[in-house]
Amino acid sequence: MYLLIDEKGRQYLVKGISDVHTNYGVIKAEKLRKGNVGKTIESHTGRGFFLLEPGILDFIKKAKRGPQTITLKDCALIVGYTGIHSGSKVVDAGTGSGILAMFLANIVNPEKLITYEIREDFAEIARENFEKANLRNIKIKSKNIYDGIDERNLDLITLDLPEPWMVVEHAKKALKVGGFLVSYSPSIEQSKKFYDALAGFQSETLESLVRNWDMRVVRPYSRMLAHTGFLTFARFIEK
Ligand code: SAH
Repeated sequence: MYLLIDEKGRQYLVKGISDVHTNYGVIKAEKLRKGNVGKTIESHTGRGFFLLEPGILDFIKKAKRGPQTITLKDCALIVGYTGIHSGSKVVDAGTGSGILAMFLANIVNPEKLITYEIREDFAEIARENFEKANLRNIKIKSKNIYDGIDERNLDLITLDLPEPWMVVEHAKKALKVGGFLVSYSPSIEQSKKFYDALAGFQSETLESLVRNWDMRVVRPYSRMLAHTGFLTFARFIEK
């Protein structure tokens, strides 16, 4: 895969199999394949494009979306507040479009990330996204996580589903002591019901608000994404 950035900053994530048609002319597939990363290549009208090797964030940005996905700020907090790293054992549910799963798989690599999904149509969207990003260390399980978790000795379980409290007892069997159960819920009522079910865990609930600044005029943009979801971090402390 190749990432092209035009003079307006627009990005094109392309395979290099067919010619790329842009607002600034056509870039031949052959030219793309011969281009050097970090250098500019030109379209047939002579307009310049930066050629980059795409990374996980580019694949996430361009991923196909089915159900509501977790935003990057929330993905980042999950990793930051649980300290997972290469080799960590993680189970995620539900897969949805697979955005959080992609973010986590990139971190735990070469360990395999397991993600549970009950709907085959969503699993298919996620599968497509994983393939495009060339992420081979993700396994989708067609299974209802409310029925149990097969894996053991986990560092982290992430939940993005309507009834996270249904997973607490299963999580106690699947997590290692000191491991985390993290739930993302758009509504505080779901978070409260989850929080109240967390006996044996040390828990905190938070939300993150990220405000971007327009540095040309040195003030925050008027619009921001005001609400995404609440994150509850529950550390398993007692067997
Ligand atoms: N975190 C995902 C979005 C998840 S949307 C992302 O970032 O892309 C919620 C998903 O959970 C839906 O696809 C839904 O089908 C799935 N789901 C709901 N209940 C489930 C359950 N009990 N077990 C497994 N998956 C479930």
